[in-house]
Amino acid sequence: MAAPSTPSPIPIVRDVPALRRAVAGLRASGRRVGFVPTMGALHDGHLSLIDAAGADDHAVVASIFVNPTQFAAGEDLADYPRREAADVSAAAGRGAELIFAPTTEAIYPDGFGTTIHVDGPTAVLEGAARPTHFDGVATVVAKLLIAVGPDRAVFGQKDAQQVAVVRRMMRDLHLDDIALVVAPTVRDDDGLALSSRNAYLSPAERQSALAISRGLRAAEARAQAGETAAAVLESETRSVIDEEPGCELEYVSLVDADEFTPVEEAAGSCILCVAARVGSTRLIDNILI
Ligand code: AMP
Repeated sequence: MAAPSTPSPIPIVRDVPALRRAVAGLRASGRRVGFVPTMGALHDGHLSLIDAAGADDHAVVASIFVNPTQFAAGEDLADYPRREAADVSAAAGRGAELIFAPTTEAIYPDGFGTTIHVDGPTAVLEGAARPTHFDGVATVVAKLLIAVGPDRAVFGQKDAQQVAVVRRMMRDLHLDDIALVVAPTVRDDDGLALSSRNAYLSPAERQSALAISRGLRAAEARAQAGETAAAVLESETRSVIDEEPGCELEYVSLVDADEFTPVEEAAGSCILCVAARVGSTRLIDNILI
């Protein structure tokens, strides 16, 4: 006999009509709605977004959808960690009131033919390394924002370039009546930025991966001491990562926070971005300079 399944602590809806009915129910008492899009395998970083979404008594809707269109062939779509029941409990425990966990067919039905391409911040770094990635991100985030219709949507600084792309998309598509909230990167005590992909790391690889945050902190210390030259800050990070044989730097680049154009001098709001490979796992991280 199959074990009885534990009832979900909060409602889970699987398609957009059910989502709209459930969101209308949350709004019925006059409450506003905060939304957190995720691909699941929730960790404390995701849960901090739920906290931010729920501030001032917003009812929190979280989505769990491993969006196939933001993975290129050969990337980790099939291996991406999926653990819905644990995610729903964790999200509910943090105050989320509704989970949107659609099927792929509910988001991309037969004949689906619309792609949102954002120019500008997609040109470099992650956009250059993963040429179809941000089309998938912009398209699914637009669809989710339109389907949920939240008052605020919360994204993590961990994916800073994604934030720049989403901000541009929301402005260009008149979705800017939704407040875009960016929450700080949550890290483990040793500095490693939390990521669902950290689950791929062996203990030894996890040690190697610490070079990424160490390298960023080294540059941050130089910047705090007054250094503004991008080349110096980047080479500070590069030399720390290069000392760790298990961590292969893909790029380190100081960019303008809005446009994501590389800058030569840190001025105004800049972000130092890193991508590196640890074994077969590709990790990204960044700090504000
Ligand atoms: P993902 O499930 O990886 O698509 O991420 C969903 C959201 O969580 C995105 O807005 C991410 O930027 C955010 N996020 C991922 N990792 C962290 C972290 N360590 N701290 C804060 N936010 C994060």
